[in-house]
Amino acid sequence: METGLLPEDADVVVIGSGAFGLSAAYHLTALGAGRVLVLDQFAPASQTSPRAAGLFKLVRADATLTALARLSVEIVTRFEQLTGVALPYVPSGSLLLARTAAHAAMIRAEAAQSRGWGVETAEITPALLHDVAPYLEGAGILAAIDVPGDIYIEEPATLLDAYQAAGERLGMTVIGDTTVSAIRMELGRVAGVVTPRGAVRTPVVIDAAGAWSPIVGALAGVTIPVAPVRHQLRITTPLGGVDPGHRIARIVDASVYLRPARGGLMVGGMEHNPLPLDPRDTGPRFTMADVPLDGGVLDRMTSDVRVQVPALIDAPIAETRGGLFTMTPDAHFLAGPVPGATGFWVATGCNGSGFSLSSGIGRVLAEWIVSGEPSIDCSTIAPERFTGPSADRAALVTAGIEQYANYYTPRPLSDNASGGRWAAHATHS
Ligand SMILES: Cc1cc2nc3c(=O)[nH]c(=O)nc-3n(C[C@H](O)[C@H](O)[C@H](O)COP(=O)(O)OP(=O)(O)OC[C@H]3O[C@@H](n4cnc5c(N)ncnc54)[C@H](O)[C@@H]3O)c2cc1C
Repeated sequence: METGLLPEDADVVVIGSGAFGLSAAYHLTALGAGRVLVLDQFAPASQTSPRAAGLFKLVRADATLTALARLSVEIVTRFEQLTGVALPYVPSGSLLLARTAAHAAMIRAEAAQSRGWGVETAEITPALLHDVAPYLEGAGILAAIDVPGDIYIEEPATLLDAYQAAGERLGMTVIGDTTVSAIRMELGRVAGVVTPRGAVRTPVVIDAAGAWSPIVGALAGVTIPVAPVRHQLRITTPLGGVDPGHRIARIVDASVYLRPARGGLMVGGMEHNPLPLDPRDTGPRFTMADVPLDGGVLDRMTSDVRVQVPALIDAPIAETRGGLFTMTPDAHFLAGPVPGATGFWVATGCNGSGFSLSSGIGRVLAEWIVSGEPSIDCSTIAPERFTGPSADRAALVTAGIEQYANYYTPRPLSDNASGGRWAAHATHS
């Protein structure tokens, strides 16, 4: 476990070594931000991020998120070439599948919109699904969109390891078992962080503390409007005939996703009655390993798609895992400078896509900090869009749960471009 000496000074301190924190830290270091220090209260990269499904998704109901998704896939697929650090990924492509007329209309409209934003998509006949994903049957499928550019990472920890290794080669420091317990402010500006192992002077802090990000925000006197909500998945034991290159599948009306995993199938999805769970209510020793798992929820999802994925019926389960999404009221990320505390930045509000978009978000955040401007317009994910009602925790949880439960609910596309509107369409992982 990493418990190196704490430096007295840093140019940037990143709080949290999950996907967001490590990506931002790597990109900052690569862009010449100086001494970048990542602190984590637990072992580095041990909380939500290594529990992700590892799915990347280019079709997003929003122009900014599409640009960030495209940038993220580009960074991951070129990572080894750019850094010399190996980062295995599977260029499987993916399928968006609909079993109701409303969902069929939704995915066709999303695919058309995404093509306009530079994402390759094509409708394929359900009879051909079996060819690209033999674990799938076309029965009951009304529309199928093929997205050849989508990828997945088999073991999510490898992305975190790659960010860390690439950053450390350039001089970035990651220290675990070090909780940031206070943030020093001087005349409204960040001046440093305090931990039980000592203090570090710094003019810039990034709150990348995941489900704990509101707690860290409060240390700087600001509100971080995210509601943590449980998400879980399972992986079967190896099943005959599943190849890693078979397509990812998202059956949108069932809110279920599937992919090849370790020779078997991974299945996960959005719960209809989501479970909010906030570390502010659970005490300081809470970790992601304490998130209660409910196999019944996953059984119902599996049963819902049994006609399309008969191999799941009675398949033995090798692993069930879960963690917390950080939901925002409009299902958009929360990344950028936080009003009210100069030098205090945030990267959270994952809404289920923080693993895959961490590369793009880390990059634009680093550009923003180093050069004063991100290369992609980030106004729809900037913290300054929230004021007033979002500070009300009960309303925030209600909005976050609604976004989670309606992840794949068809809504008028005109809602989607609204960015800051609370009723905006969710952007699924
Ligand atoms: C089961 C599951 C499947 C998912 N699948 C996908 C997927 O396929 N694709 C996708 O894009 N996303 C997916 N997600 C979402 C994704 O995992 C998250 O968006 C992402 O991991 C969030 O990263 P993070 O850095 O915010 O959080 P974390 O990985 O939790 O990192 C936050 C870190 O901050 C540290 N910290 C907190 N407070 C302090 C403090 N005071 N001092 C020091 N350190 C602190 C914590 O210890 C923690 O290590 C999934 C999530 C789950 C639960």
